[in-house]
Amino acid sequence: MGFFDSIKDLQETAANQNKGGGRQYLTLEDGDKFRVRFLQELSKDGKGYDEEAGTANVVDIHQSPYDFKKKLACTIESGSCWAHEQLATNAKWKTKKRVLLNVAVLEKADWVSKVLDQTLSDNHVITTLIEYAAEYGSIVDRDYNISRSGKGMNDTSYKLIPLSPSDVEEGVADLVLADLAVAYKVLPYDEQEAFFLEGATETAGSKPASGW
Ligand SMILES: [Zn+2]
Repeated sequence: MGFFDSIKDLQETAANQNKGGGRQYLTLEDGDKFRVRFLQELSKDGKGYDEEAGTANVVDIHQSPYDFKKKLACTIESGSCWAHEQLATNAKWKTKKRVLLNVAVLEKADWVSKVLDQTLSDNHVITTLIEYAAEYGSIVDRDYNISRSGKGMNDTSYKLIPLSPSDVEEGVADLVLADLAVAYKVLPYDEQEAFFLEGATETAGSKPASGW
């Protein structure tokens, strides 16, 4: 952080911090376990579907094979997508589905609003969550425990355990949901190549993209 010369600087910093609806991701380290409450259903036919809360958002993204931190939403549906064009020569540019979901997380004694961002791979929790949704007809009717074990790309797995059905605890209902539509950056076609390749080096090409 540091000190600010003017209110304007402070406002700009705050605005950047909150870009994209002020979302904050739920991140777990090896061994972490959190109690969570999903704040929206996976799909509109969930028993607890609420129009205002909406549903989970599934986004197709591309991740640079040279730098896994560089991710953009796929724009092929609007006609052109630079990463899609790279597929002819490098399959690592293929789209990956990310599932985004608003979730309340119990941190110490307080419920805070976060975004869960996971893939559909079996070591993430979404495929399990889909099974619970089918079984219970809802994912918002109870709390869950989510945990992570493992540090690396290949040995990390997440686990999701449903608790007994319960009403939401105090503090959960008042939480503000993040706007999932802006969770991944969307750039116009003519800016995509520069975004992905800026700072990319030849040797970096041997690094595999991160799985999460
Ligand atoms: Zn694409």
